[in-house]
Amino acid sequence: WRQRSEIHAIAEFSPELELEMERLDKEFWIPGQKLKEIVKRFIEELDEGLQENNKNIPMNISWVHSLPTGNEKGTYLTLDLGGTNLRVCKVTLHGNETDPATPEKKYTLDQEQYRVPQELKSGSAEQLWTYIAEKLQTFLQEKGLDKEYSKDKPMPLGFTFSYPATQDKIDHAVLQTWTKGFDIKGVEGQDAAAQLREKIKEKGLPLEIVCVINDTVGAMIASAYNDHATIVGAIFGTGCNAAYMASLPSIKKLSSSDPRLRPQDPNANTNKNGEGEKMAINCEYGAFDNARRVLPITKYDEEIDKESPRPGEQAFEKLSAGLYLGEVFRLVFIDLADRGFLFANQDTKGLRKPYILDTGFLSQIEDDESPNAINTRNLFRDTLDLSLSDQEVEVSRRVAELVAFKKRWARALGEVLEWGERKEGEDPIIITSAEDGSGVGCAIIAAIEMERRGR
Ligand code: BGC
Ligand code: MG
Repeated sequence: WRQRSEIHAIAEFSPELELEMERLDKEFWIPGQKLKEIVKRFIEELDEGLQENNKNIPMNISWVHSLPTGNEKGTYLTLDLGGTNLRVCKVTLHGNETDPATPEKKYTLDQEQYRVPQELKSGSAEQLWTYIAEKLQTFLQEKGLDKEYSKDKPMPLGFTFSYPATQDKIDHAVLQTWTKGFDIKGVEGQDAAAQLREKIKEKGLPLEIVCVINDTVGAMIASAYNDHATIVGAIFGTGCNAAYMASLPSIKKLSSSDPRLRPQDPNANTNKNGEGEKMAINCEYGAFDNARRVLPITKYDEEIDKESPRPGEQAFEKLSAGLYLGEVFRLVFIDLADRGFLFANQDTKGLRKPYILDTGFLSQIEDDESPNAINTRNLFRDTLDLSLSDQEVEVSRRVAELVAFKKRWARALGEVLEWGERKEGEDPIIITSAEDGSGVGCAIIAAIEMERRGR
């Protein structure tokens, strides 16, 4: 990163600031050896989570037994409650046919997105489900679906609930803990599906919840619908997490005679692709190292954790996910300002608002190639009401690079996996982006579940 900063440098640091930048670099730097240690512990924790329920990575059972065949069809409503938005989608799966209007796509999607209001995130269960049911109702009315479906012939609804949940079956999800800054009373320890079902009934909506899934499972299934070679679904968003298809015997905490495996379940025991029995596992690796054995924690991370609604939880997520990176940046800046390195004679009130900066702020700084860094200057002025000196521009670049890791993560991945030198296009892992993962993936799982129920 030093090299990159020099290319664009518009100012030199004073000796004191140079020392301070070196201190920060040390604080955020993770040596290759440490990375390997972290990876080793990560693998151990994934394994421990399959053996028993523990307080680190939970490895949640999803009751999704198979990847899609690609033939799944039908029209479904999906609801996605993530950390930032609520999305309602009408998804039509075309199976092996395609939509003449969009022949490259195997599905048609009609969606509305709403920003989850801040006050809802710390409100009550009643407020949450009322809000969601209202959005569902509006959507049904606007799309004329309230005429097409009735209480006797309800529209199947798939619910993407992107939080850790214990599931006894696919249409049931007991919330283990809120993540991503949510703090809604009365849902933890309760079945979120049952609570929503109750509201749907109260409002008389023509909907039937058929599955509750995690967004990572949705991403994996949606990708597999297009490409059967998919093995992992991962989310790098407001939160972080991944799901994969596990072989049933590897899940030691689930006995093969568990009655919930429903031997009558055609999906549970099918061997369609000669693959053996499988189960999608939602890792919830945001909870990695909650026991704090290996992760390098800066004082800024400590502060984020302390101020969060669930201190001690989601240790890894708080170090790396989108919700928190802007906040780390902000805390570093406050620290520098308080110690007299930045913004002498300026009012830093704007900088004192928690969570005022999002990841977009950091990437705009990193990507800024405008003359004299005018974009970065405007960004600080508009968001924080601060004007930057040339030196402060340089500080913001360096801190953005340190915190967001963008340039360094590919190198780190190579180091950890010991890939060595590769030519372009020879990556052992192919990363594709699962477009509309939570909507389409959820609809496919709903389709599989409807088929299993013989409907
Ligand atoms: C949640 C996961 C989710 C991830 C990405 C985490 O905070 O616990 O369930 O998959 O965010 O949305
Ligand atoms: Mg999401």
